[in-house]
Amino acid sequence: MQLILTFVAIYCKFEFIIMRKTIAIDMDNVIADIQTNWINIYEKEFGVRVKKEDLLGKPEDDAFPDAVAARSLLYKPGFFRFAPVMEGAQEALQELQKDFDIYIVSAAMEFPTSLFEKYEWLNEHFPFISWKNIIFCGDKSVIDTDFLVDDHLKNLDFCKGVPVLFTAGHNINVTKHNRVDNWVEAVDFIRTNA
Ligand SMILES: [Mg+2]
Repeated sequence: MQLILTFVAIYCKFEFIIMRKTIAIDMDNVIADIQTNWINIYEKEFGVRVKKEDLLGKPEDDAFPDAVAARSLLYKPGFFRFAPVMEGAQEALQELQKDFDIYIVSAAMEFPTSLFEKYEWLNEHFPFISWKNIIFCGDKSVIDTDFLVDDHLKNLDFCKGVPVLFTAGHNINVTKHNRVDNWVEAVDFIRTNA
């Protein structure tokens, strides 16, 4: 009996050691700099340059002079395909990938035309993320990872793991959850709390 218990204990410990924790990572305003992209395209289309400071603390599309026009840009071909990469995101994800299973999770169904653009964008900028680790969905509450890095409360409030609020202009006044301002802080927070 003692021998069996010893084997069970060793097995359980081994299982514990090899189990990698999981991280779900949002795309827009977390690894893709959608805000900068939005400002640039809005100026190109409508001739008005909106300052990043003017967007602070406001819902994303409402912050533009013409909210309806701003939102219409999200449905235009190319909007998501040519967004810049968030500073430090590539290095951070490669670093985290050494010890964690990383999943890119985007509620892309809200903008169906974005699906393939986002997939191509990930292939170009994050080729080290397998297609098996990309989840395009409608509602992130079904995601059951140990961490969720996201810029929206609608996702973080319902996440099953540890919520990590990635700072974006629209969430600057949010006081809930664990805030990180950039990818250096995000890696540090996840490593500290894993
Ligand atoms: Mg987002």
